[in-house]
Amino acid sequence: MASPLPVPHDTPDPDFADLLARRPHLKAHALDGLVMDDVPLAQIARQVGTPTWVYSAATLRRRYGTLRDALEGAGLTASVHFAAKANDSLAVLRVLGAEGAGADVVSEGELLAARAAGIPARRIVFSGVGKTEREIALALREGILQINAESAEEIERISSVADAMGLTAPVSLRINPDVDARTHAKISTGLAENKFGIPYTDAPALYARMASLPGIRPVGLAVHIGSQITEGMAGFRAAYARVAEMAQALMGRGLPVERLDCGGGLGISYRDEAPPSPAALAGAIKATLGPLGLPVMLEPGRWIAAPAGVLLASVVLQKRGANRRFVILDAAMNDLVRPAMYEAWHGILPVAPDALHAPASPADVVGPVCETGDTFARGRALPDLPPGALVAFLDAGAYGATMSSTYNARPLAAEVLVDGHRWAVTRPRQPLEALLAHQVVPDWLGTTA
Ligand SMILES: *Cc1c(COP(=O)(O)O)cnc(C)c1O
Repeated sequence: MASPLPVPHDTPDPDFADLLARRPHLKAHALDGLVMDDVPLAQIARQVGTPTWVYSAATLRRRYGTLRDALEGAGLTASVHFAAKANDSLAVLRVLGAEGAGADVVSEGELLAARAAGIPARRIVFSGVGKTEREIALALREGILQINAESAEEIERISSVADAMGLTAPVSLRINPDVDARTHAKISTGLAENKFGIPYTDAPALYARMASLPGIRPVGLAVHIGSQITEGMAGFRAAYARVAEMAQALMGRGLPVERLDCGGGLGISYRDEAPPSPAALAGAIKATLGPLGLPVMLEPGRWIAAPAGVLLASVVLQKRGANRRFVILDAAMNDLVRPAMYEAWHGILPVAPDALHAPASPADVVGPVCETGDTFARGRALPDLPPGALVAFLDAGAYGATMSSTYNARPLAAEVLVDGHRWAVTRPRQPLEALLAHQVVPDWLGTTA
């Protein structure tokens, strides 16, 4: 059972200067305060209000480019398919699609978002353990690059849907390599006990079955062992070695294997983690899968998008507790759920120029939702933050807005894209009326007394 409050760390938190030094798109300006690329965050807050997600287009481009270059630098023929569940903003998908990225989608909604953002279907992969017939049919109608099948039952379903449509589905088999990614239990996916993929030992028979079924063309193998992987390359390497061995065995039996999907999972440094570099990941792919000479695919989400986004929030009030200071924000766990859900640590920077250099003391940073779990940080060194002061949650560009809810009848926050000196609202704040607009109270309930 997860702790309802963030767990204390045994190393000191990085200070504001450390946090800024590792995030080149954010700068502390003497007059404007915290600036993303060329836009003061205070200006966005003034015009759009808070809470608001702000994404840096330049950072998305730079990080996508770094990954692509690392794969090319290792001598691989590779494609990068951004995991839309990390950030499904159409503007974000458009930025990445324009750079040449494909998408990895896990639902009809994400498939439509990727297509609406202009990402061609031939660069889209459909993953997930529970695709419906309707979703499979949509993917095939769109002309998707591949569907990653996760069970024997799903293979039969894809075959019957495709056959009935008179189409052939390109299908990769997602294997469960039974390796420990050494990440948070809720985002570990490559252990035999997890719901994902096909047991490793069942793969040869299932792959042969795919080759024999109508409406299916087997195109390769896929693997994805988890998310926010920061503890070295061992898990990735073990998983890719299993894929290599399996691909070799399938080809040895005369079965067609066209490409290998390495999944996502590369972690980032939210606090002081030292995740493997893209070059190290590319090197591990080259060492394990390179000898097969097949094109490889990567499905990164977090690594590309998390550092590119912040969540801007305002202080509602500071409250003196019995023995602690509470900074109560207008953002809450319904906006950014990662601290409540995964005990995640996010850097929190004050936005005002003077606040970045003012004396700091410990504070608990919380939202207004009626749950103790609505705690973003405990004992965080922060300056005095009077009502109206702005703060920015760092690394909120992945699994931030996409995991938001309207819990406590709180509307979804606005989203903004910054591109150099330009910026635009890419999703207006959800109007409060929208929370009520689609609800129906049956007539037979009558009126209130
Ligand atoms: C979530 C997911 C990804 C992306 O994971 P990140 O940790 O964000 O890189 C990629 N592939 C699959 C199948 C996923 O479920």
